[in-house]
Amino acid sequence: MDCLFCAIVEGSIPSKKAYEDDKMLAFYDINPQAPVHILVIPKEHISSVDGINDENSAIIAAIFEKIPAIAKEAGITNGYRVVSNCGDDAHQTVKHLHFHILGGQRLEGRMA
Ligand code: 5GP
Ligand code: ZN
Repeated sequence: MDCLFCAIVEGSIPSKKAYEDDKMLAFYDINPQAPVHILVIPKEHISSVDGINDENSAIIAAIFEKIPAIAKEAGITNGYRVVSNCGDDAHQTVKHLHFHILGGQRLEGRMA
């Protein structure tokens, strides 16, 4: 399968890592939209939020259990936003599930 984030998991495309364990990888977005912009992905290929099911949702729980520590370790002290774009209307550009962590500044009050 030709997937950019699977290639990042494999290490064939380099990334600046923020956190890694056997289930997930967190790395800095190449085109940051906030002073801190990290992507957290399951190592297993899941296409989007639409691909979450009862067989893989434990990974999603593990990711959300870890997000606060990833944000804190990255220096975020005053709140952050967690976003996942799912599908065309949301402008999902990489079809491997990822959660954006955005912080380090006062963010926009509206999401859309
Ligand atoms: P989406 O638009 O699918 O929600 O988010 C995809 C994100 O992946 C974008 O914020 C984009 O900047 C980031 N991205 C795309 N290619 C690369 C890459 O090769 N390395 C890293 N670190 N981020 C990438
Ligand atoms: Zn993938």
